[in-house]
Formats: sequence, C-alpha cells, structure tokens
Amino acid sequence: MSAEAPLRPPAALLDILNGARRPLLIAHLSPDGDAIGSLLALGGILYRLGKDPILSCQDPVPPNLQFLPHTDRITAAPADEVDVVVALDSSDPSRLGDVYQRGRYSRLPLAVIDHHVTNTLFGTVHWVEPAACATAEMVYYLGETLLAPEVGPDWMANELATYILTGIVTDTRGFRTNSTNARVMALVARLVAAGAPLTTITDQVLETRTFDLIRLWGRVLQTVRLDEGVISVVNTQAMRKDLGGLVRPESLVSFLLGAQEAYIAAVFTELPDGPVECSFRARPGHDVSRLALELGGGGHPLAAGCTVKGEVEEVRHTLVERLRQC
Ligand code: 5GP
Ligand code: MN
Repeated sequence: MSAEAPLRPPAALLDILNGARRPLLIAHLSPDGDAIGSLLALGGILYRLGKDPILSCQDPVPPNLQFLPHTDRITAAPADEVDVVVALDSSDPSRLGDVYQRGRYSRLPLAVIDHHVTNTLFGTVHWVEPAACATAEMVYYLGETLLAPEVGPDWMANELATYILTGIVTDTRGFRTNSTNARVMALVARLVAAGAPLTTITDQVLETRTFDLIRLWGRVLQTVRLDEGVISVVNTQAMRKDLGGLVRPESLVSFLLGAQEAYIAAVFTELPDGPVECSFRARPGHDVSRLALELGGGGHPLAAGCTVKGEVEEVRHTLVERLRQC
C-alpha cells in the first residue's frame, strides 16, 4: 500500500453545490449500498449547510439497506422548484431512470459525481474519480471541504459516517477489492471512530439475504458452466415465478469468480420485460468494463454490467466468446 493523496473535489462542483438552494440528488436504479449511502450522505451534508435537498431514486431501497436512518426520505416522485440536479454513482444518464427522464430537469445544471471509469461525462460539471473505491468515499471529501469549515471537526456526527462506510463496504466487498488502499483504510478508521457501526454494516451489506434469494441461487447454479476460464449462469423468469417478484441473484457473480479455474464470471438475467441483464466480474489483469461499455453499459475493469436484447441462452453463448478475450 502506498500513501495515496486525499481526493479533491473540483472548484466548479463546489461552486454549483454552494449556490444550490433546492438540489435534487439522484442515485442509480437498482440501488446498492454505494448509491443509497452516497445519496443519504450528500443529502445530510447539504441539509446541514442550510439547503433543502431532495433525495430520489427510481427503485425502492432494498431490504438489507433499510437499517440506515432516514431511508424514508428517498422518493421516486417528481420534485418542483429544483435548481440543481446531482447524479450519484451513475455512469450514464439511463442509470438515473424515470426520475430524471420524466422530470423535465434537462435545462437545469447537472453535476455528476461518480467513480466509474466508463462515465460518459453527461452533465454540465463532472467529478469522476476512478481511483475512488466508492462514490461515498468522494462524498466524504465533499463533506470535509464544504461542511467541516462550517461546523468543525465533528461534522460527521450522527449518521453521516454510517452512510459513507456503507458505500465503502459495499463497493469494496468488505475491503477486498484492489481499490482498497491506505487512504481508504485510514478513512475507514475515522468513520468507525465517528460512530459508524462496522459490524452491523458488514452483516447487512455482505451477509444478509432472504430465503427466496438462497432458493434462487440453488436454481440458477444448476445452469453453471465453465468455458475455458469463463464461468457463467443464466437466471430465467421461469426460475423465479414463485419467488415474489425477486429478479436479481445479487452477489452470486462474485461467488462464481471464486472458482479456481475461472478468470471471468458472468450472470445473465432475463428481465421481466424481456431483455437480458449481464453482470460481469474479472480477476486482476483482465478488463470487463470495455466490453460492457461497448454493449451500452459500463462499470469498472473488474466489475461491470450491461443490458442487451436477445434470448438468454443465446446471449450467454455470444458473450462468453467475447468475455474469453477480455
Ligand atoms: P453489478 O454486476 O453489481 O450489477 O454491477 C457491477 C458494476 O457495473 C457496477 O459498478 C455498476 O454500476 C456497473 N453496471 C452494471 N450494469 C450496468 C449498466 O447497465 N449500465 C452501466 N452504465 N453500468 C452498469
Ligand atoms: Mn459505486
């Protein structure tokens, strides 16, 4: 580990946030702990700066993140009198979903805060930091820059440290990714010292799943294949018909990459409206983000995804060939 420099938000972003009165913050659809953690943390920071932030996300907060305080403030409803829009953890505008598309916000300034290397720079002001382990880590530095000078060193009091640590634990899968460096671990120590409940967060984010999800894993795993280093499964609508609306097998793709013989893992999920959602993971030295970007999605070199049209087994057949070259 080397001593990485702290992250520095650009002045144009600080200006736009300082000038906002009623900012609309949007986290990506199918939100994970980094999306929700970043949304709640930046909302809390801006609220403490005297602003009136609106927290939005097209999809509901997943059950394992509902332990976080104030998740009831997150809404999918359109907002009025917004003066600035902030996109969080989203590498392209489609990730913002209906909340942005339907809301007639396109004439407002759009600030993009994200850590995906594939970000398409779709806003008016961007802070895209692929070196950040999570968008929530970037939000910490926003708090340090904007809020600490106003309220002092205890600016992380209350729930802000919990939100930020939830984002970091999620995207580093419990400090195990190669984005976990000395800067991140020093920050984690500060977050824990400020009261963030590390054990609760790791339990909720990494170890808590429903019985239905375990049943889905059982069915999906029956389709597992290994094709010269690419391990894959398919998840069809038929497998889920008695599972109460459950769609995604969540962290199954990371579990698959544990296969000693594999260097890439892929899950192909047939979505309720037809297309196939593809989730990719790679071992260091490979890069699945370029293929995901080419197919209209995005992500990080070692974790990326996209949604494509086609019959699910055909999509698997075609993409496994491409993944072998990643
Ligand atoms: P997951 O496999 O956990 O759903 O996603 C892995 C990574 O790829 C995440 O960083 C996520 O943001 C990104 N990703 C997954 N699906 C898509 C997609 O359809 N579009 C974009 N832009 N990124 C995606
Ligand atoms: Mn993230």
